[in-house]
Amino acid sequence: MHEAVELLSKYLKINTTNPPGNEIEGVRFFADIFDAENIDYKIFEADTGRASISARLKGTGKEKPLFLLNHIDVVLAEKEQWSFDPFGGEIRDGFIHGRGAIDMKGQGIMELMAFLEVSRSKQTPSRDIVFLAVADEEASGIKGVQYLFDNHPDELDAGLVLNEGGHGIIDMLPDRPVMLISTAEKASNWLHVSCQGPPGHGSVPHGQNALERLVRGLNRLQKTTPPIILTDVTAEFFKKLAGYWDFLQPYGSDNKNETLVKCLTESGLVSTPQISAMLRNTISTNVIRSGSKTNVIPSTAEAKLDIRLLPGQDSDEFLTEIKAQLADDEIKIEFITKDESFGSPIDTKDYRTIENVLGQHFPGAITAPWLMLGASDSRFFRERGVNAYGVFPAMFSKEDGKMIHGIDEKISEKNLITGSAVYIDIVKALCEL
Ligand SMILES: [Zn+2]
Repeated sequence: MHEAVELLSKYLKINTTNPPGNEIEGVRFFADIFDAENIDYKIFEADTGRASISARLKGTGKEKPLFLLNHIDVVLAEKEQWSFDPFGGEIRDGFIHGRGAIDMKGQGIMELMAFLEVSRSKQTPSRDIVFLAVADEEASGIKGVQYLFDNHPDELDAGLVLNEGGHGIIDMLPDRPVMLISTAEKASNWLHVSCQGPPGHGSVPHGQNALERLVRGLNRLQKTTPPIILTDVTAEFFKKLAGYWDFLQPYGSDNKNETLVKCLTESGLVSTPQISAMLRNTISTNVIRSGSKTNVIPSTAEAKLDIRLLPGQDSDEFLTEIKAQLADDEIKIEFITKDESFGSPIDTKDYRTIENVLGQHFPGAITAPWLMLGASDSRFFRERGVNAYGVFPAMFSKEDGKMIHGIDEKISEKNLITGSAVYIDIVKALCEL
């Protein structure tokens, strides 16, 4: 059996559902491997059971360290909905089955295979290579990368980070696969919106009902669609695809942003949720709370909004726009979380190296930069000026995407074995080996 397949199966048997995470078990899994390979490592425990591990191969120091970043924790698997044991690590029908196979224990094993390959070769890379498996990515990274930056910043001396975020898609274009390299992600800004008013009896409405005021404000907010904003990464993504997607041909000829917007609008793609989220700041009202009795006018009402901002957007400016749309001074707004989106450039030697290796392994595939809609640990590095690229050299169908945070998550042996070989070549190329 291929070493990567055997290791992933074992890794998937470790339940690192966050919460509670219990990533220490995943840390022990890696520590045992490093012990057997005589590789030094460090364990960082943010809290009981909430651990991360790093191991370093010394390089010549010609360039700043390359970090192979992955997270140990996984999201909840509702066992009764699955057709197999989410923590069984079962190998069957050419697949390795289990929660985390795609997000992201599978990639963690690919990175490990590349790390071990360099270690076993006894060659000296042109820069340190750091394997870093962290806790708590799925719950904001507070006990993972955030903890490490707060308490052990010297350990995070990265010059380049490879992480989750990009992947291959077989069926996006009509006639060839696309390999996405994630170079940016939208920034999470969560808002708490609340309103207060006099209580009263439900039989005597007084016109200042806190819940009704809040609902009216939210209604006004929902009536406005945030405008289309074409960021560099999205324009570059469509530019790469223009020659292979019929409806993009006019954009392929003139490369003008207004032509791209016209193409996307006329094709109707602009109103699909995925494409719309790539082109707009988004607002999603996900929590609302008020009142407990049908005959009592509530004195407070609150809602929580999940705002995702495009690269280059200012949180405070967007908050001002939201205030204007709520159009009621009695509605108070405050940030629960506030974040700015930073991207990594694509005109770098490292990006081109990654792109070249991917091109060699996936001939015919189009490589394109990608704006991730969700958040990953890459943001902690990007905001500190370190380039981070999401590289997961595995091919999926659009349908496969549903397994991420969904049910019956699995990865094919082919994807895992190929991906490990690609990772080895990417790391070697980045480290002049
Ligand atoms: Zn993930």
